[in-house]
Amino acid sequence: MPNKKLVQFLLNHNKKQSKIFSSPDAVLWRTQYRAQHPTELAAMKCMDGRLNLAVMTNTPPGIIQPFRNIGGQFDLGWPYFGQVLDSWIMRAANLGRDSVVLVTYHWSKGDKHRGCRGFDYDVKAARVYTLNLKKQIERVFGKNHAVVYPILLGIETDEDALLFEGENGRMLDVSSELETSQEKVEIKFRSLFPDMKEHVVQDLLPLVFGNTQHIREMKEVQRPVTILAHKEQILAVGRGFDWLHFPNKALIIGPYSYDLGGPITTAANILLENIKLKRIPKEEGVVLLASGLYHDDAGSDKPRAIEKAHSLARFAQNTIASAIPELLPHVQMLTGIVNFNTRLFTPSQAKK
Ligand SMILES: [Zn+2]
Repeated sequence: MPNKKLVQFLLNHNKKQSKIFSSPDAVLWRTQYRAQHPTELAAMKCMDGRLNLAVMTNTPPGIIQPFRNIGGQFDLGWPYFGQVLDSWIMRAANLGRDSVVLVTYHWSKGDKHRGCRGFDYDVKAARVYTLNLKKQIERVFGKNHAVVYPILLGIETDEDALLFEGENGRMLDVSSELETSQEKVEIKFRSLFPDMKEHVVQDLLPLVFGNTQHIREMKEVQRPVTILAHKEQILAVGRGFDWLHFPNKALIIGPYSYDLGGPITTAANILLENIKLKRIPKEEGVVLLASGLYHDDAGSDKPRAIEKAHSLARFAQNTIASAIPELLPHVQMLTGIVNFNTRLFTPSQAKK
């Protein structure tokens, strides 16, 4: 049996992240930012641990709501995903807010193989898929962008640079505007989205300028590029993982698609290979982390999240048992729920 080191590491890391997220400074920064920039922001993105948009845009953590899946692949036709996005948009609309959905794909300019594994490193294929997802969001939530504005966003991970793609084929590559005045960048940004409401523009410009600042800071400290190497030790299924942002450490599968078994098998294969090739310490093994997300302590929200987490844990365990039984002796289970307001993960024992 593997030791408890990895489970303990995850629990400690989550506690630390939750403490930072719930600190007075963080909560007040978020509250004030939200009051100044009320547009709700979501990001559809790949599970890749490098894609931390809060860091890339100098935005308070918790403002950009992430949806993560392998390759950033989503389909609004999936019943659960459609329902989750719809509730998120309706909640914003009920509060009188507009929503911007950043539909993202990623690549590396320095080396193709630092790009997206979910698309076999094919950035063109990733962009086309993402563009279609953006169009799908428009078909469902309105082509005229009255309330919901999906934006096609490329993320270049060597520099953490954002590439905004406009409605008219125009682009704004933040990495090539580092010396440009804010006024000129603003004019360029506006020309990309001529039908965007003024207050939405005002809420997106801080992301652009925040990204400029972040790229400059990373250049100053000469941050090395993250080398992508398989050394994942965690298979995470479910929701509520935005405290888990490590490169090459976790494979995250959102519970959205019809086919969960396929991605779980693929991920389990990667983990087994990592053990066999000694990329990860054998004594630590791997962790199957199943998580449910809840908003309210009162009512049925929390108990339902617990049931979801255990159901996912059982499904993932059964999938691994039948597809890759060789991995099972190395697997430790960690099942629990994440509080949306604090990001705190609470482990939960299976009920008989
Ligand atoms: Zn990816």
